[in-house]
Amino acid sequence: MPIGEIFRHDTIKKIILKYKTIWALGHAMALMGWDLETYMPQDGIKDRSEAFAELEALRQRLVKDPELEKLVNEAEKDSGSLNDYERGVVRVMKRTIRIAKAIPEELIRREAKVTSEATVVWKRAKSKANFDLFKPYLEQIVEIQREKAEKLGYEEHPYDALLDLYEEGLRTRDVEKIFNELVPATKKILEAIRSMGFYPSHHPLEDREYDIDAAQQLIRDILVGFEWPWNRGRVDESAHPFTIEMGVNDIRITVRYEGRDIKRAVYSLVHEYGHALYELQVDPRLAHTPIGGGVSMGIHEGQSRFWENIVGRGPWFIKWLKERLDKHIGYTKSYDPVEIYRYVNTVRPDLIRVDADEVTYNLHIYLRFDIEKKLIEGTLHPSEVPMYWDNKIEELLGVRPRNVAEGALQDIHWSHGSIGYFPTYTLGNVVAAAMWTRMGGPDSELLRKLKLRSIRNWLKERIHQWGATYAPKELLRRSLGVELTAKYLVEYLEWKYLELPNKLNEYIA
Ligand code: MG
Repeated sequence: MPIGEIFRHDTIKKIILKYKTIWALGHAMALMGWDLETYMPQDGIKDRSEAFAELEALRQRLVKDPELEKLVNEAEKDSGSLNDYERGVVRVMKRTIRIAKAIPEELIRREAKVTSEATVVWKRAKSKANFDLFKPYLEQIVEIQREKAEKLGYEEHPYDALLDLYEEGLRTRDVEKIFNELVPATKKILEAIRSMGFYPSHHPLEDREYDIDAAQQLIRDILVGFEWPWNRGRVDESAHPFTIEMGVNDIRITVRYEGRDIKRAVYSLVHEYGHALYELQVDPRLAHTPIGGGVSMGIHEGQSRFWENIVGRGPWFIKWLKERLDKHIGYTKSYDPVEIYRYVNTVRPDLIRVDADEVTYNLHIYLRFDIEKKLIEGTLHPSEVPMYWDNKIEELLGVRPRNVAEGALQDIHWSHGSIGYFPTYTLGNVVAAAMWTRMGGPDSELLRKLKLRSIRNWLKERIHQWGATYAPKELLRRSLGVELTAKYLVEYLEWKYLELPNKLNEYIA
């Protein structure tokens, strides 16, 4: 489709033309990344990493092209005559150029070197449950991230500069405000769950093995039920499920089959489907432009959590799911829908984030946020992290790691240098719950009747079609009329975990 339809301003057209090379590089790198996680032979990693580094450096050079910056500044001066899409292009380009210019090449190279070693060392340290191996790397990584924050600049807190890399405009105080409300509310909900006894901490179906061929049929069937556009998307297998988009007409997701506890494969698929749908429903006229994809990690995670938890683990989804489970997996036939609902909604305060349920998950994120913030402020030293972690997780969830592999070494993120990323997971839950509220909450017709096509359209209208036209906070304000707050998430959790058990039949029937 011609870009002239919505991009009319001459300078904007020139920016988009220049941007196209940057887009094409990103397109190629996405494909290389997908291949790396799926079909690349193991020993291809070294060349692939070098190719990535070269292309990334090239991308940086193109972003820093003075001609491009000149055009962006020119367009900004004429902001009054731009439409929303055009202003979005200026906003995204200014931000991209600002970040690229702020971080010196020397720092990028140092970070790349340290993190590529750190990832290898982290794996070994985790397998040996030995923090001392990883400690010098964490020290360097924290130092590099602190330098980066100084280079990027911030108004209130150095951690703001890092948060902003993953979530445009997100500040430490936004995250603090969310957790100040969410943490005590979650603890209360957990206590109530325990005393009510409806949501189990373990379900026997979690121990059942399944046939992988049958599971592949099930996954295919679920996607057919979602009207997955096979001409625009693929589904493959990988060790860590993910979604990657090459463009609005080529979105790829992956799943993993562990052979036990079928809900794990099902919900990781439904999660990735939520990410994919966002990209599939971006206005195609925005393709190849700086605003032609999801706007931020938090909004993206909001889409995936919405499908995984609010649609997929909701009472409205159970009959739909059970029909497919019964057909392909079989042994679910002897469980009634309420049992299936309980199976997919176990709540278990535990040590490992990636296995956490939707109630306890945010406490895991709070712990990481708290530690990262302190590391960046310099009020916590990397050597103190394991002890701090163990004490804090015990205080939050009542469980204590037996070793550091179950504690501070469990996640790969810090070895990658990703500090400031974790809060976007909770932001996703916050966004998903806000969408749920605006969709009508417990009374939503779309959910109660499981009108999948209408749900997709609802999301497209409000969020997906815009791509990155509006900054995340502005998108939430415009499309949902909400600010960043834990309010809706707390209301959602209270409804689902405290009220719903008494009237579940109304919803499942
Ligand atoms: Mg995700």
